Amino acid sequence: MHELPVVLDIVHVMDEEANKNGMKEITRISLVIGELSSIIDESVQMYFEIAAKDHPCEGAKLVFEHRPAMLKCQSCGKEFPHEKNFQCPDCGGDSNLIKGTGREFYILSFDGQ
Ligand SMILES: [Zn+2]
Repeated sequence: MHELPVVLDIVHVMDEEANKNGMKEITRISLVIGELSSIIDESVQMYFEIAAKDHPCEGAKLVFEHRPAMLKCQSCGKEFPHEKNFQCPDCGGDSNLIKGTGREFYILSFDGQ
């Protein structure tokens, strides 16, 4: 349910961008979604189809790019993407979440004409 405000935000930003760039329609929007943001592609897609109606981005293809959370090893300092666990792939040490990573949600790029 928390996808609705972010979708409304995307539609709003696309309205402004279409205006600014003199585009009649937005055909593709690439979105970056962090794995910890708890934003679900399908929900974004569903709300988008409703929210974008009668806007320049109506019918635009949504492309989702997922970003993992990043971890930093406490022993050797290696930074690596979170996959299965918090174990360092180099030395096997424990790692900490790098603050703010994996929580991204933003428009990476868009196409239109
Ligand atoms: Zn390590």
